[in-house]
Amino acid sequence: MNRFAGKVAIITGASSGLGPVMARMMAAEGAKLVLAARRKDLVEEAAAAIGDAAVAVQADVTDEADVAAMVEAAMSRWGQVDVMMNNAAVPGTDKYIWEQTVDNFLDTYKVDCMAAMLCTREVLNRSMIERRSGAIINFSSGAGWDGMVRKSHYSAAKGALRILTKVTAKEVGQFNIRCNCVVPGAIGTDLMINYMKRIADEQGVSVEEIAAGIQAPLPLKTFSTPEDVANLALFLASDQARTITGQSINVDAGLVMS
Ligand code: NAD
Repeated sequence: MNRFAGKVAIITGASSGLGPVMARMMAAEGAKLVLAARRKDLVEEAAAAIGDAAVAVQADVTDEADVAAMVEAAMSRWGQVDVMMNNAAVPGTDKYIWEQTVDNFLDTYKVDCMAAMLCTREVLNRSMIERRSGAIINFSSGAGWDGMVRKSHYSAAKGALRILTKVTAKEVGQFNIRCNCVVPGAIGTDLMINYMKRIADEQGVSVEEIAAGIQAPLPLKTFSTPEDVANLALFLASDQARTITGQSINVDAGLVMS
């Protein structure tokens, strides 16, 4: 398939985990890319692995000036933005609600929800509204449906992101722009592996035992790979999903059945 021939995508959080995998898969289908993340060396490495079709930008997605510069990089190099992948996220620090701090809560919210608003606003204003075309993909989490113990900061932000998705979809549909939300369960990336290591250390058990405990209630008894999640994100970003908007779709081995 060549679903992204002639299209330009920005992927945030493109230095590790899902981001570079989506970049590779989109480039293989013809996309031109701007890859953004805070860690310059890693994002440059991700772009170099793709070659001329990818530009690396160092950007903190919670910073308005950085987000403006990120979109400017896409406009000056490629002249348009067709797809905005709001993938960057932080897990925050695990805390029970009675230990929660304003800094932990807001720092997580800024990356995991507010930044999607900033990136979306910027691509709408710089390219998508004028061109009457575009697809915006947000990345929530199963934690954003039912909540996760010790993750009020992350769960609340990821839940809010689904509502941001609906509002965005309602507002921009008139411009032929779509907004959808991918909702992963556990993906075998650093974010998940580090989480399981931390919990295993706390409980004095092995990472394998923690992994088995997470998989036990899943109908499919497995974690998703980054490619599993990317397949859904690329479908939603493509014209194949031209009448799908405002949706939050789970890719989670059956964790949530809504
Ligand atoms: P990851 O931690 O490997 O990657 C996230 C990326 O975002 C990192 O490169 C990080 O540096 C970047 N980032 C963080 N803060 C940033 C900022 N302020 N500015 C720019 N970049 C920033 O995570 P992942 O596993 O690849 O997750 C991808 C998406 O899927 C995230 O939205 C995550 O919340 C979601 N998700 C992941 C899992 C999982 O099990 N891994 C589960 C549910 C949802």
